[in-house]
Amino acid sequence: MTGDDSLAVAYAAIQRRVSEAATRAGRDPATVSVMAVTKTRGRATVDAALRLGITSLGENRVQEARDKFGGDPVPDGVVLSLIGSLQTNKAKQAVALFDLIESVDRVSLVEALARAAADRTSPLPVLIQVNVAAEAQKAGCAVEDAGRLALAVAATKVLLPVGVMTIAPLVEDADDVRPVFRTLRQLRDTVRESVPTLEALSMGMSNDLDVAIEEGATAVRVGRALFGDRG
Ligand SMILES: *Cc1c(COP(=O)(O)O)cnc(C)c1O
Repeated sequence: MTGDDSLAVAYAAIQRRVSEAATRAGRDPATVSVMAVTKTRGRATVDAALRLGITSLGENRVQEARDKFGGDPVPDGVVLSLIGSLQTNKAKQAVALFDLIESVDRVSLVEALARAAADRTSPLPVLIQVNVAAEAQKAGCAVEDAGRLALAVAATKVLLPVGVMTIAPLVEDADDVRPVFRTLRQLRDTVRESVPTLEALSMGMSNDLDVAIEEGATAVRVGRALFGDRG
């Protein structure tokens, strides 16, 4: 098979997983978007994904994304998201490059992004990243800080809090992280009472997207199941 063919096969398998998980949960599969996580993948691979009709791309490093997309932006209608942790000194570059930032996890970053986005004509959508499982090495705010952060984002006016994101712990049996996804959904529901624009639930990756969708994910972020293992 050519690279394009094997990518098409992998994407079809993911679409089937999305559809089956949504059906099990009594949800419409169309309410779940699939982000292709293109970190470490070259531009040719990205373009092959776009040819399949994928319209959401995720990168975890500003510099890598600049190298890949700076001189050759994604086509209109494709959303490029930052899903990796962001240093405040890169906020300006991130705002210039990305359509959505999923990794907002502290007030200092909200302030830096707001300064960088000050002259935008429309607010920049962001997600609050939550470290639901409170893993020591992981980015993301504490569950109890998410509401305060979402309000801080909303108060900037130039950033728009549109959802929450989490990275679940790596486990053997994806069912073990179901409580993590459930907690994020409940958190979203609670915070939405004071921040009504908070809709998106970005949760679930190659290993655990099925469980995440059963628990309400509106976006899953898929790398290895689409493109193969990272070198
Ligand atoms: C790499 C990455 C993914 C994709 O992980 P896979 O296991 O390759 O599907 C999703 N989300 C984030 C934040 C990542 O860094």
